[in-house]
Amino acid sequence: MQQSLAKIVGANWVKTRPSELAAYDADGLPGHRATPSLAVFPGTRDELIQVVRELAKTGTPFVPRGAGTGLSGGSLAEDVVLLGLQRLTRIISVDPVNRTARVEPGVVNVRLSRATLPHGLHYAPDPSSQTACTIGGNVAENAGGPHCLKYGVTLNHIVECEVILPDGTLTRFGNAHGETDGYDLLGLFIGSEGCFGVATEITVRLVPNPDAVHTLLASFASVDAAARAVSRIVATGIVPAALEMMDNATIRAVEASIYTAGYPIDAAAVLLCEVDGMHEGLDEDVAIIRRCCEESGASDVRVATAEADRMRLWQGRKKAFGAMGRIAPSLVVQDAVVPRTKLPEVLARIDAIAQHHGVKVCNVFHAGDGNLHPNIPYDANNAEENDRVHHAMSEIMQACIDAGGTITGEHGVGLDKLPYMERLFSAASLDAMCRVRSVFDPDRRANPGKVVPVRACREWHGTAGVTSPRDGSAHAVA
Ligand SMILES: Cc1cc2nc3c(=O)[nH]c(=O)nc-3n(C[C@H](O)[C@H](O)[C@H](O)COP(=O)(O)OP(=O)(O)OC[C@H]3O[C@@H](n4cnc5c(N)ncnc54)[C@H](O)[C@@H]3O)c2cc1C
Repeated sequence: MQQSLAKIVGANWVKTRPSELAAYDADGLPGHRATPSLAVFPGTRDELIQVVRELAKTGTPFVPRGAGTGLSGGSLAEDVVLLGLQRLTRIISVDPVNRTARVEPGVVNVRLSRATLPHGLHYAPDPSSQTACTIGGNVAENAGGPHCLKYGVTLNHIVECEVILPDGTLTRFGNAHGETDGYDLLGLFIGSEGCFGVATEITVRLVPNPDAVHTLLASFASVDAAARAVSRIVATGIVPAALEMMDNATIRAVEASIYTAGYPIDAAAVLLCEVDGMHEGLDEDVAIIRRCCEESGASDVRVATAEADRMRLWQGRKKAFGAMGRIAPSLVVQDAVVPRTKLPEVLARIDAIAQHHGVKVCNVFHAGDGNLHPNIPYDANNAEENDRVHHAMSEIMQACIDAGGTITGEHGVGLDKLPYMERLFSAASLDAMCRVRSVFDPDRRANPGKVVPVRACREWHGTAGVTSPRDGSAHAVA
C-alpha cells in the first residue's frame, strides 16, 4: 500500500513512522486518541481521486482530515489510512457577479474571505477556529459560528460539492448556480462527517460585506438577566448578525490572557451583540437592543463602531477557548442546543451539575441560536478528575435533551457523542441513518466508527466487532 500510494503522491507525502503519525492521533477533543496505520497527503485533486481509487481496490478504510480542529474526535480512527487534505489549498476561481467561489477542500476558512475582500464579498460562516479550520472540514461538520444567527450555517452557503465516493466514483451534488433538482443530496452530504465520501472541490456562496456594523457589549449581574435580554432582543424582530454570551469564568479567562478585550471582570455575564446592514436604520436597532438589555438589568452597555474596537471585542470571544488553556492542561469544549427560552433553566442546571461533580464550567456560546458550549478545563491525565468530568458532561447532555434540545449544534457527533445518539433517536431513526449511509458507503470504509453506533443498524448487525469504551461489551460501530 505504501508503495502504491507513494507512486501517486511521491514518497515524501506518505508517512508511516510512529513519530510522524503521532501528529495525527488526536484532534481538538482531549482524552481520545487513535493512531492511523499510514498517512497520505495528496497535492492535487487528481492525486486525491487516484488515492481514493487505490484504497478502494484493496478495500482499505480511511479517514479524511482537514486541519484537525474538530472537537468531537471526527478525524480520528485507529489503524486506518489518514487522508490529509491540507495541501489542497487552491482558491480555484472567484465569480463576483454570481457571488460564488470554487475552492479545494483544504482552503482555510478565513483565507477565503480575505481573498474575496477586494470584491466587497465574504464567506459568512465564521467558526471561532476560522484562522485554522478548512472549508472541507466545515462542510463535513456543517460548521456554524457567531454570525450564523443571521446568515445561516455552512449548509446555507454551499451550492455544489464534487465528491469522490469511497468506491472511487466521482460525482457532483448540487449545482454551481445554486439550483436544485431531484433529491437534495448536497444537503445530505453536508454534515455527513466524512462518512459518505470526500469533498474534492466545493463551490461556496459569497455574501456582500455590509455597509455598516455596530457591536454592543452589555454587562449583567446575573446569567439569568443576560438570558432574559436574549429573549427580549429576539422578540423585537431584529435579527442580530451575532448574539453571543460569556459567563464570568470565561470573562476572567479572557481578561487574564493575551486576548484581553476589556470585558468587565466583575460581570456575571456579558452579551456581545452585533447588528449590520445599511447605515440607515442601524442606529435605531442599536437603541432598541440597548433598551432591551437595560430593561433586563444590564449595568452597562457599550457600543463599538470603530473597526479596531469591534475587533478587540471579537478577539476576546473568538479566542476564549484558547484563553481557557491557562486554567488547566486540557479543555473539553462541548456543544449542545436547547430552545432559547430554556436557556436560564438549563444554565442553572449546568451550574448545579458542575458543583455536584466539583468541576469548573466556563460557558461561552451562541445565545441567539440556543447553541450552548459548556467548557470544562481539566487535567485529562488525572484519572479521577477525568471520571468526574465525564459524568458531568454526560449529565449536562442529558439536561439539554430533557429540555427538548439536542446533542450537537455545530461540532458533530464524531466519536465523542456516539453514546448519546441512542438517548436521542429511536431505533427506527438510527436504522434509517444507517441505510442512508449504505447508499454512499456500503462497506463502511469512509471514517469508520462514527456518528451512529452500528448495533442500531439492523442490516449491519454482527460485523466488525469492536469493544465499547462505555460498557466494555463488544459492539460494532458504523
Ligand atoms: C478553538 C476552536 C473554536 C471552534 N469554534 C467553532 C465554531 O465557532 N463553530 C463550529 O462549527 N466549529 C468550531 N470549532 C470546531 C471545528 O473547527 C469545526 O468543526 C471545523 O469545521 C473542523 O474543520 P477541520 O478542517 O479542522 O476538520 P477536521 O477536524 O480535520 O475534520 C472534521 C471532520 O471532517 C471530515 N473531513 C475533513 N475534510 C473533509 C473533506 N474534504 N471531505 C469529507 N470529510 C472531511 C473529517 O473526517 C472529520 O470527520 C472550533 C474548534 C476549535 C479548536
